Order: sequence, then structure tokens, then C-alpha cells
Amino acid sequence: MPRRISIFGATGSIGQNTIDLIARAPEAYQVVALSGGRNVEHLARDAIKLKAEIAVTAFDEELDALQSALAGSGIEAAAGQTALLEAARRPADWVMSAIVGAAGLAPGLAALEQGATLALANKETLVCAGKLVLETAERHGAALLPVDSEHSAIFQALIGEDISAVERIVITASGGAFRDWPINKLRDATLAEASCHPNWQMGQRITIDSASMFNKALEVIETREFFGVEPEQIEVLVHPESMIHALVGFCDGALMAHVGPPDMRHAIGFALHHPERRSLPVERLDLARIGALTFHEPDLARYPALRLARDVMQRGGLAGCVFNAAKERSLDAFIEGRIGFLEMAAVVEDVLERIEGESGLIDASMTLDNVLQTDHLARSYADRVMTERAG
Ligand code: NAD
Ligand code: MG
Repeated sequence: MPRRISIFGATGSIGQNTIDLIARAPEAYQVVALSGGRNVEHLARDAIKLKAEIAVTAFDEELDALQSALAGSGIEAAAGQTALLEAARRPADWVMSAIVGAAGLAPGLAALEQGATLALANKETLVCAGKLVLETAERHGAALLPVDSEHSAIFQALIGEDISAVERIVITASGGAFRDWPINKLRDATLAEASCHPNWQMGQRITIDSASMFNKALEVIETREFFGVEPEQIEVLVHPESMIHALVGFCDGALMAHVGPPDMRHAIGFALHHPERRSLPVERLDLARIGALTFHEPDLARYPALRLARDVMQRGGLAGCVFNAAKERSLDAFIEGRIGFLEMAAVVEDVLERIEGESGLIDASMTLDNVLQTDHLARSYADRVMTERAG
């Protein structure tokens, strides 16, 4: 029996790497739903190639274009948030969550509620609503598998281990586009400069988040939520070669490292075949040729996002949701040229402080409605902060 699978965010970088893997063994999979954003022709092409049951664009106004691109194929076309949720509720064995941003949360929860295994590339899901997501998975007997390379590495290092024997978890960071820049040049960093990653090919937003280390900040929170370790047990280590993705330190002093090429098809393929290991089309590392791997501590003055992640974990509750929403909004503003590179962290910090001071929201119970409302409110706070800063 082929496995029924759906891919949310199919047209993005993770989505395309997932399609690359399943297209190598089409007989093994029956594709239920593919989702995308505005790139509907690409979405339709993939839906036809993979014989999907339904293709969904997140945006209502793209429905006509999607329908025309699918005309005659027999594949259903749908658009909008409700359609995304309905597609996520269609029975599937395995669902890839690869939408970018908090928009990935609700479809991921819907997939867990129907008992599907959720392969989680969308780290925002755990940052915004970790407790809710883990409880939903447990209540419905659904498995949650990490796809972020660091978290897949930690997960693999923990196989057969007892989490209570873990002393620390070290996640590595390449340092992003500006790791070798003098700190006083960062203020003037442009969008084009922030959009180039030295090691990984990824979507634009996560690439910029790598340059600011907001991506690593999200990943530290993701580590806490996914593995249930204390904030003090999580360390970030700059490792410019991006070969070691994470290390798990045990109480006997052993440090288990996961080493591999910077290719997301490893983490995606691991989640796809779990609990088996199968051959994957990734480069086999020649360590003799690589010769040396280097490491250093991150400079917190250069990367304020890492300091903010600590505050957010300390605060708990819905602080992760506020942090992510403010980050997404300030990233939009940076992409649109409205604020500078260093202002992103300043805006996020300001929003966290104001929301803390002005309402009891952060302590509200973690329901999907409360998370979505808080996300919305944090975005409007971010807009207000940016307007005030500009004025
Ligand atoms: P991307 O920008 O390349 O693709 C994002 C996908 O989401 C696209 O299909 C896009 O159409 C869709 N999308 C965008 N806005 C949407 C919205 N509002 N509603 C619904 N769909 C929307 O992003 P990516 O680099 O593939 O990253 C996807 C997720 O995976 C992110 O959460 C990212 O942090 C995480 N991740 C990515 C990588 C990587 O190597 N790219 C590695 C680890 C984790
Ligand atoms: Mg990562």
C-alpha cells in the first residue's frame, strides 16, 4: 500500500526538497494535498507530476489562476485559510509542515488532530505554541518528527538514550551572511547582502534570519519545547563549516555529534523513513579532504536575538508567540526597506516589553484562538513601534 502524504509549503525550499525525495519512488507514495502561496503555476505542475488529489493556494485571489493551471488534470483546486485546514484534515499517514511563519501552525495542528505523523520543518509551530502542539499530538496518538537539521540531529543522537541522562544540548550556527563583518558595518547591511547564506540554500526569510541569528533564537526555543530540556542546558556554538548540526552531552561526559553535509534532504528523508533508515541521495563526507572543523562562541553583542530568546524562555507562556510575530513583522519591514538590519532586534525587544507591561496576555491559556489573537496583537504592536521609531 502506498503511503498517503501531504506537503504544506510544497513550492518552497523544504517543500521542493521533499518532492525531490518522493519523486524518486513515486510508487511508494500517494500524494493527497500540496499547498503553496502565489506561485500557483509551479504548484500545479508539481500536483500534476505527483498526481495529487488536491492543490491549495493560501491566497483566495490566486484561485482562478490555480484552476486554469490545473484545467483538465482532474486535480481539485482550492484557496484560502479554510481550504488549507480542510486539506490538512484529509486522511494522510505523513504530513510535511513547510509553510514559512506562524501561518504553518493551524494546518499542522489539523494534521495532528487526524492522527498523521507530522514532519515539522516549520519551527514557528513550536515557538508559538509548543505545549499546545505536543498535547495535541499526544491526545491523537500522532507522531511529531523534527525536520530542522539541528533538531533532527539531536533526535538521532537521543535514539536509545534516556533524556534524564542529558546534561546539555549544543546547537551549531554557521554565523550567517555577516559572520565575518565588522560589527559597525551591520547597521548598513542591505537586503541583498542579508539574503546570501554561506552554506545553505534556503527560502529568503530563513536566510535573513540566519544572518541576524533570529533563526538560531527560534531554534533554541524549539529545542526547549521539543525535547523538554531547561533553557540553561541549551548552548549555541558558531561552526562556520555547517557539518556538525548539533551535539548532545550526557552525564558521563560523552558528547554525541551528528555530522553530515548541509543538505536538508537528510533531515527530511530521516523523518520520511523513520523509524527505518534508508539510502538518501546526499553527499558522503570525506573528512580527510575537509581536514578541520572550527568552532567559537557567539558574540551576544553581534546577535541580540540570542539574548532575547533566553528572556522569552524565562518568561514562558505566550512570550514565544509574541517574539515570533514581532520578528516576522520586523522582517517584513526590513525586506520592504522600511527599517535597517539592526533595528529588527530592537523592534522585537520593544514589543516584548510593551506587551508585558500593558496586558496579561502572555499568561493566557495556550489555546489556538489565544495564540492567533496574541500573534495578531503582537504584529500591530510591532507596526506601532516601527511607526514611532520612524517619526
Ligand atoms: P520558503 O519561503 O522557501 O517556502 C515557504 C512555503 O510556504 C512556500 O510554499 C510558500 O508558498 C508558502 N507560504 C508562504 N506564505 C504563506 C502563508 N501565509 N500561508 C500559507 N503558505 C505560505 O521557506 P523554506 O525555506 O522552505 O522554509 C519553510 C519552513 O521550514 C520555515 O518555517 C523554515 O524556518 C523551516 N526550515 C527551513 C529550512 C531550509 O533549509 N529551507 C531548514 C530548516 C527549517
Ligand atoms: Mg536549522
